[in-house]
Amino acid sequence: MSLLPFGNLPSYAPRHFVPATVEWGQWEHIAPLFDQLETRSSACATVADLEQWLLDWGELSATVDDESSRRYIAMTCHTDDAEAEKAYLHFVEQIEPQLKSRQFKLGELFLAHPMRSQLPKRRYEVFDRDTKVNVELFRPENVPLETEENRLGQQYQKLSGSLTVQFRGEEKTLAQMGRYLEETDRALRQEAWELVANRRLQEAEKFEDIFEQMVKLREQIAANAGFPNYLEYAFRARGRFDYTPADCRVFHDAIEREILPVLRQLQAERRQKMDLPALRPWDLAADPQQRPPLRPFAQVEQLIKQTQNIFTRIDTGLAQGFTYMQHFHLLDLANRKGKAPGGYQSTLAESRLPFIFMNSVGQQRDVETLLHETGHAFHTLASRREDLYAYRTAPIEFCEVASMSMELLGNEYLEEFYPKAEANRARRDHLEGIVKFFPWMAAIDAFQHWIYSHPGHSRAQRTAAWLELMDRFGDVVDWTGYEQVRAHLWHRQLHLFLHPFYYVEYGIAQLGALQVWANAKGNKAAAFRDYQQALALGGSRPLPELFAAAGCPFDFSASSVKPLMQLVQTELAKLNEPRRGIGVNTQD
Ligand SMILES: [Zn+2]
Repeated sequence: MSLLPFGNLPSYAPRHFVPATVEWGQWEHIAPLFDQLETRSSACATVADLEQWLLDWGELSATVDDESSRRYIAMTCHTDDAEAEKAYLHFVEQIEPQLKSRQFKLGELFLAHPMRSQLPKRRYEVFDRDTKVNVELFRPENVPLETEENRLGQQYQKLSGSLTVQFRGEEKTLAQMGRYLEETDRALRQEAWELVANRRLQEAEKFEDIFEQMVKLREQIAANAGFPNYLEYAFRARGRFDYTPADCRVFHDAIEREILPVLRQLQAERRQKMDLPALRPWDLAADPQQRPPLRPFAQVEQLIKQTQNIFTRIDTGLAQGFTYMQHFHLLDLANRKGKAPGGYQSTLAESRLPFIFMNSVGQQRDVETLLHETGHAFHTLASRREDLYAYRTAPIEFCEVASMSMELLGNEYLEEFYPKAEANRARRDHLEGIVKFFPWMAAIDAFQHWIYSHPGHSRAQRTAAWLELMDRFGDVVDWTGYEQVRAHLWHRQLHLFLHPFYYVEYGIAQLGALQVWANAKGNKAAAFRDYQQALALGGSRPLPELFAAAGCPFDFSASSVKPLMQLVQTELAKLNEPRRGIGVNTQD
């Protein structure tokens, strides 16, 4: 695998069970390892035997996971290499489906094991309940339905990805059109926005068709598993033991009451600054004072060096972790031809090391992305000492606390990149983005609650339900003349199609991150110590305990949302610059 940016990585611990070399591309080389574990389970006569068996099972899962990550990294770093793509797809299509049923079998053996009840309760509580759900929900008759669901998901992605528009004589993808919404020329913004909105609208029927087929499949999957609807099934399948659909509805209410007014206020200010009679959908991404975009760095080396300085100012341990990653070439940050879009943190499960991939081009969002992904990377490093593989990963609701907190904590030191005024502008944009996110998240989440608790609804009823939510969580933007676009706005939210119910997690995590940041405003050292201790727990404790360890209540009601929004408003007021004349270059 010479396509990987890193070479040999130090292994964290010597292997105990999996042979030094395994031909991972061939199932017949992997299957015997599962056979051995199955046979061995009945021979576990003591608690110590069973614990060793669990560690060996974890070692096998980690080595498989490591292989999958390496193939994924190689492919995304070299999209033009056909072999790399083939190797990854082979693994996903030929190896992973077989792994699923073998992992299920091991789960069954564990649950039926006579020594299971003797295991230390607190230590295995989370593992036990996760395994129970995996085994409980597994239905062989759902496997082909899930395959069909995936196929429809690919169809959605293909359709979305294939859309292009003709803009000023050139064919552009919708993603490429995004940057024109940041232009200061309003007519140009409107032209770009309309092209994209109309192009999506042309395919509205197709998006609806795909979605309806998906909803039907999901209702069947839930019914097969013995659930009255997909809402209840999804909460169980996502391992949501610690909050309910009712808690999410309380969260929606809190957002409506405490956050929406802040968003409306911010947009009113934006309208004033832009000197417009009304904000239109194409007026939301441009700088309201017509300043050119921020340019935090020119070369990726500067991005690394300055981010390193930020970590040094937060904590020496963090700074060392980041140096360590550079030493082992675990960062591939620069945009270049032949690289997949986007950014991610991937964990090499066997060496227990993080890898960060992104496409930096010198924008402020690159700084934010690196802080975010490094938050994930610190989580990986902090939970390295955990020997049980399943506990080296936390639930997504908490993983994003790790990353989003790092954005907020790191943003306190943006002067490493900018003069004071520009640093404030970046901080302001970031906080406004957080405020903007919550109501949209609430609309998407509430929409899914509606969809999956109204089986057999018609297309017209669904549109009406969406529009009601757009009114409830909507901002002050004037949509006159674009009512159809607004009625189908949800088509662009990939999660509804590909990852049902997976969106509220970001809202929950953002609350946690704001709380970590609020704690740091009070006592920086204590807040940071709590944050690190919580990260070190990995996934070994239930969500409310992970939050508590980080110094955050696990509560999405108005009583925890309100003070956090007050803090955001206070900070925004501090960052506010005096109003300047429109059209004047106001860069300091
Ligand atoms: Zn993340």
